[in-house]
Amino acid sequence: MTAARAVLFDRDGTLVEDVPYNGDPALVRPMPGAAEALALLRSLGVPTAVVTNQSGIARGRFGWDDMGRVHARIDELLGPFHAWAVCPHGPDDGCGCRKPAPGLVLDVARRLGVSPAECVVVGDIGSDMAAARAAGARGVLVPTPVTRPEEVRAAPVVAPDLLTAVRVALDGGPDVPAPVSVPAAGRAGARRPARVLTHPTTRPTDRPTDRPTDRPTVRRPS
Ligand SMILES: [Mg+2]
Ligand SMILES: [Zn+2]
Repeated sequence: MTAARAVLFDRDGTLVEDVPYNGDPALVRPMPGAAEALALLRSLGVPTAVVTNQSGIARGRFGWDDMGRVHARIDELLGPFHAWAVCPHGPDDGCGCRKPAPGLVLDVARRLGVSPAECVVVGDIGSDMAAARAAGARGVLVPTPVTRPEEVRAAPVVAPDLLTAVRVALDGGPDVPAPVSVPAAGRAGARRPARVLTHPTTRPTDRPTDRPTDRPTVRRPS
């Protein structure tokens, strides 16, 4: 894939632990690697956004104020984000924003001034990938233990964690799992397919800190 100009994250099960119908900011827990993945994007000037289904609003499980407090807590722990897009509807409301519909992704792309094709959506389930596809964006699945096997099989790209997912999005790397297993020296070598990196000038020419030779660890450009 070509390098993302914006990365859109699902909320529950992706950025933060999935606590069903959570209206309590005290229960917000970042997912492993979320802070590092976001820090990498921010260090490169790549806008970040959240695209989230919150049918708990439609179902009366929590109110807008509760959700606002949860989002303020997420912002405190992981923000700031350039955009938030929330679907408050239920599955039977027929809205155009509840993932797998494309509305949230299209809305964020428009607000960020990028085309959907320049966006990568990172999520934990198939509807995140479907929303990306429906919007003309690309998807990277970061499965959790509750992600269904068929959703993993159907995903366009699968990453083991958020930091890897973001590297794939930034990289324009090959659409295969575990791309960071490719050694740094292979970047210009024959083992990696040629690709065009279209990210704008924020992309450094030398990125020694964000290309590990094995499993990702916490690395921030110094
Ligand atoms: Mg999710
Ligand atoms: Zn909706």
